[in-house]
Amino acid sequence: MVKRDFVSGSAMKTYPKALLEKSIDVGTETEPQIPRRASVGDDVYEVLLTRLISLKIAPGARINVDGLVKDLGVSQTPIRAALVRLEAEGLVVKTHLVGYSAAPLPSRRRFEQIFELRVLLEPVVAAKAARALTPQDRTALGELHAAMAAPSSDDARLAYGKFATWDAAFHARIATASGSELIAETLARLHTHMHLFRLLFHSRVTEEAIREHADVITALNAGDPDAAYASMERHIVFSQRRMAPIFEILD
Ligand SMILES: [Zn+2]
Repeated sequence: MVKRDFVSGSAMKTYPKALLEKSIDVGTETEPQIPRRASVGDDVYEVLLTRLISLKIAPGARINVDGLVKDLGVSQTPIRAALVRLEAEGLVVKTHLVGYSAAPLPSRRRFEQIFELRVLLEPVVAAKAARALTPQDRTALGELHAAMAAPSSDDARLAYGKFATWDAAFHARIATASGSELIAETLARLHTHMHLFRLLFHSRVTEEAIREHADVITALNAGDPDAAYASMERHIVFSQRRMAPIFEILD
């Protein structure tokens, strides 16, 4: 395992082969062609999301808009719109005079602190949400859960990228439903899900997460704060455990 390269201080880190392989081993089918569906903007977003989540665009790498214009055969407008959206989601960063690049991966220490914070905050907002859930929240959480649980015939990498955005939306919805705006904002700023899904590209993770989400939803729908607290705490602790082998690579 090439560990040392991974933590070198250079702007463009070299990632261990094992990590990259783990990240793209769900298929080598070609990228979705554009245009394919109604919205070119959505297609461009999905292609870039997939490339970022699968580390095809490596963390820290420059993203060349003109190159993408040629590559995808679309104008700059949908590409720039997609980059703005991905920046809000924490997957790309914009630097003055440099332009866009893929967001760097957080360090292991940072990941551990992200989980430290999540395990403190997310059970609390889940318990509060159990008392405050609106019918709209209930519907939205049910739909997100169903979307994550549905087997996808799409490009596996794209499906995985979508799972990351749905998982982020699921946790954000529970935080918002709790009425604790500050906690919701704090959690949103971490962009945990996008970073995690970039790290581990593995179907077992999504299957286990789906089962844990089902327990959270059952507790929320029952209006049971204690069960909501416990099931969310278990989900966060198990998420961290699932990441442990990858954290060792980051070390
Ligand atoms: Zn989750």
